[in-house]
Amino acid sequence: MKRSLILFQLLFLCSFAFAQPDRWQQRVKYTMDVNVDVQTNRFTGKQKLDYTNNSPDTLTKVFFHLYWNAFQPNSMMDNRSRELGKISLDKSRSGREQLDWDQRVRDRILNLKPDEIGYQKVISLKMNGVAQSTKEEETILTVKLSKPILPKTTVTFDLEFEAQIPLQIRRSGRDNPGTGVRYSISQWYPKICEYDYEGWHPTPYIAREFYGVWGDYDVRINIDKTYILGGTGYLQNPGEIGYGYEPAGAKVNRPAGNRLIWHFVAPNVHDFMWAADPQFKHLTRIIRNGPVIHVLYRNKNNELRQDTLWNVLADGAVTAFPFIEKSFGKYPYNQYSFIHGGDGGMEYPMATLIAGPGLGTAFHEWMHSWYQGMLGTNESLYAWMDEGFTNWATGEIEEYYYNRQLEKYPGDQALHQYIEKQKKRLPLNHEDAYNSYFALVKSGLQEPLTTHADHFNTNYAYVIAAYSMGEIFLEQLGYIVSDDIRNKILLEYYRLWRFKHPNANDFMRVAEKVSGLQLDWYKEYWINTTKTIDYGIDSLWEVNGKTLIRLRMLGKMPMPIDVMLTLKDGSRELAYIPQYLMFGEKPPEDHALPRTVFESWKWTNPTYTFEIAHKLTDLKVVEIDPSQRMADVNRKNNKLELNW
Ligand SMILES: [Zn+2]
Repeated sequence: MKRSLILFQLLFLCSFAFAQPDRWQQRVKYTMDVNVDVQTNRFTGKQKLDYTNNSPDTLTKVFFHLYWNAFQPNSMMDNRSRELGKISLDKSRSGREQLDWDQRVRDRILNLKPDEIGYQKVISLKMNGVAQSTKEEETILTVKLSKPILPKTTVTFDLEFEAQIPLQIRRSGRDNPGTGVRYSISQWYPKICEYDYEGWHPTPYIAREFYGVWGDYDVRINIDKTYILGGTGYLQNPGEIGYGYEPAGAKVNRPAGNRLIWHFVAPNVHDFMWAADPQFKHLTRIIRNGPVIHVLYRNKNNELRQDTLWNVLADGAVTAFPFIEKSFGKYPYNQYSFIHGGDGGMEYPMATLIAGPGLGTAFHEWMHSWYQGMLGTNESLYAWMDEGFTNWATGEIEEYYYNRQLEKYPGDQALHQYIEKQKKRLPLNHEDAYNSYFALVKSGLQEPLTTHADHFNTNYAYVIAAYSMGEIFLEQLGYIVSDDIRNKILLEYYRLWRFKHPNANDFMRVAEKVSGLQLDWYKEYWINTTKTIDYGIDSLWEVNGKTLIRLRMLGKMPMPIDVMLTLKDGSRELAYIPQYLMFGEKPPEDHALPRTVFESWKWTNPTYTFEIAHKLTDLKVVEIDPSQRMADVNRKNNKLELNW
């Protein structure tokens, strides 16, 4: 009795300590059969969708995405791109005029011929066997339900659809001239929009960012026998398919006829992508205690160098994986595929489409498995939490990977030279992100990160906000709470919020709990406004053998301040001034470095003076934030060198 009471108490304590946030999620189960005609580049499909309404709401309508309808002349995507093409940005380094449109899209959609456009048509749609009335408005299909879907109930939709694979314009399509890959098939089926605590998200396909419902996919693709496929999901019939999917040495029994049905199953994902090409080469790597890595690529011109680079990518994934899991949390699937296709890099569950074997892109897209795949923030609203966090992680992984390579091959001079060159270009300390952000501030085109991804005035402001400012958000968070604690925050964020679509507040609450510091102000300034940081050294003077240092807050965004003092004898010490709004202080980051914690700086005061126990003439250098993790837009006034 007593024992069970203790056990009960223990259980209670544990459940309290590991309390998971309680946010309901809708659920889907897709079963799809598609039949592809590689002559006409069209396919027909059947979809059975079991949709579970876990919300407390009664749903009277539902929405579906029909993404490929964007690839038609005068679509919203086409209009938007051509309008952005009228905006001239500063001249590029080459001196040529830079237009704001996406170079991949430009005005290409306007010029598509009828057999080159993309379309998705829903031929019939039934709910629980009853035909429903639908209204197609370009990339969104509205379904007014004959009967509402009650809370905590499941309905079954049956759809018949047909589609034409567009010439590759953006992300999906056929016959990309760059990669030469025949089919990059993403955003390809009628996909139910996400309904969450903010309601429906029928976001039209204009440029970017995806948001979906987690669930299980069972997909059969019937296609010409010569095509080799890769994509989301585990292949269920490798013995019938072969092409490197069969277990080593196993015999392949292909059915008669000139077609194959590829059967894939993907559990707990929010999308399904596939790609196909008759010339795909297929590499695999097995990671111990990790997923199987598939690499599918097309070596268009049969260059030996290409084969080498794709093999380096496959090996790179194996090398980086333990670091990735340790830093960002467990990868829950048994497979990941790097697939040649698309136009740059685009993330999908369990797979990516990449235009080439670049390791930086490969790591970036894989990291999206965490921030886009498993955490799945609504990217339209919080693109910085996906692209920015992913970019930050990419920099960390690249640094780890290149250092490991140097350790692994200590005597290889050519490798060392190559890696040193790579590392120079690496976003070490995430310097590229800071420089891009500073340039955006200077341009006057900056908009708050709260702007919807499709509604930024320029592509330029969106890209820097989402990728660079999101990356800086994490690097700068390390400056505020310490790098160690920032790393703990990321792991805890993943543990608490995976498969739950967290928003910005959810991240901030984790950050506050783990650090013990108030951080609401950081979000208010960095995310909600375009205010900038600028601190400077104002003046120094000596009173009774002690030096007084006055700092000035010149920007509008408050921050805690690290000041490094280097003395004439070469010794260094850190003066740390917490920001009042934090109601606390970060722990020391370098225990070998003496640190004095001063009273916090109330941001309403434009200056702050502190006293150090050294004579003025003993000082050599005074520097605000030598780590350069604080995004101070004017670093010229951060450092003072004294020449006595
Ligand atoms: Zn990305």
